[in-house]
Amino acid sequence: MNTRTELDSLGEIALIDRISRAFGQPSQPETIRGIGDDAAVIDTGGPDYWLISTDMLLEGVHFDLAYTPLKHLGFKAVAVNVSDIAAMNGTPLQITVSVALSNRFSVEAVEELYEGIKAACEAYQVDLIGGDTTSSRSGLVISVTVTGRVAKDKITYRNTAQPNDVVCVTGDLGAAFCGLQLLEREKQVFLADPTMQPEINEEKAYVLERQLRPSARTDIVYELQDLGVVPTAMIDVSDGLASELLHICTQSKTGAVIFDENIPIDDVTYLVATELNVSPITAALNGGEDYELLFTVRPQEFEKLKNHARITPIGYLTDKPESVLLATKAGQYTQIKAQGWKHF
Ligand code: ADP
Ligand code: MG
Repeated sequence: MNTRTELDSLGEIALIDRISRAFGQPSQPETIRGIGDDAAVIDTGGPDYWLISTDMLLEGVHFDLAYTPLKHLGFKAVAVNVSDIAAMNGTPLQITVSVALSNRFSVEAVEELYEGIKAACEAYQVDLIGGDTTSSRSGLVISVTVTGRVAKDKITYRNTAQPNDVVCVTGDLGAAFCGLQLLEREKQVFLADPTMQPEINEEKAYVLERQLRPSARTDIVYELQDLGVVPTAMIDVSDGLASELLHICTQSKTGAVIFDENIPIDDVTYLVATELNVSPITAALNGGEDYELLFTVRPQEFEKLKNHARITPIGYLTDKPESVLLATKAGQYTQIKAQGWKHF
């Protein structure tokens, strides 16, 4: 008898693992890295590797058109892909964009979406080189594939971190999650009483922008290069700090200790989180969609970064793979779990 396994009993990570194992090792000598990192890595000779990554955004799952401006959505669809190239320490080059559209959409609406895509192409200096257009019966789907390039000796994988490395994160975390919660709350208020005006003031604009129009940290890739630093490992924060730290630790076979008081959180995020009754640390650990970079450097290399305003050391790696810990100021340690991992 055939057995039936429910998708949600497995979760996304285990499912990808199963798919990956079924295909075994890549057969082409040019395929340096396949499934398992932020981008696949291809060697066509010469001093650089080529990178390729793809991400899909679905209406109703990843965005809600009730409060998502199409122009921002177009920008975000490109930025989240470019972020995966940045996570390999690479420079983005080209994108393809595929869209599935329902007849709910006007030509003007599609143009607005593409205005955002164009703005991102200009911001990240990538060329739109193709895609696919089809109709959809269930909502808008945007799938973007991005290519990039990185010098072979500067590539940053997830599985090459070492014990004693300093764990660093760029920018601040938790804002995008708080922005989403705020938008959801206002939507519910509006649905309950359409005459009510949304209560989002200027003060909270930061978290909304982080949710609706995130940036990829390509700037950090250039700055690391200028400082002469190659991280030992790097990943972008799409699913929350907890999940990404666990990816680095699991794949590098290390443990970690990070200090909650060091996790960079913006004042506006604190304000909104408090108002929403969410712990700011939980928003940073499990919220996701920040698209900052989480990376590790050798302790002696960290010296070169320590005065950088937008890079924060949050802890260090250990040689105890089973223990990935969050330390509080009071000296308590809790095991970090990946609540940010997506389930079906
Ligand atoms: P990210 O969060 O960086 O976009 P994902 O968690 O989406 O990464 O994917 C992790 C890895 O699994 C990547 O190497 C990605 O290419 C691969 N992957 C995801 N889904 C599939 C799939 N359906 N088939 C093959 N590989 C996949
Ligand atoms: Mg990624």
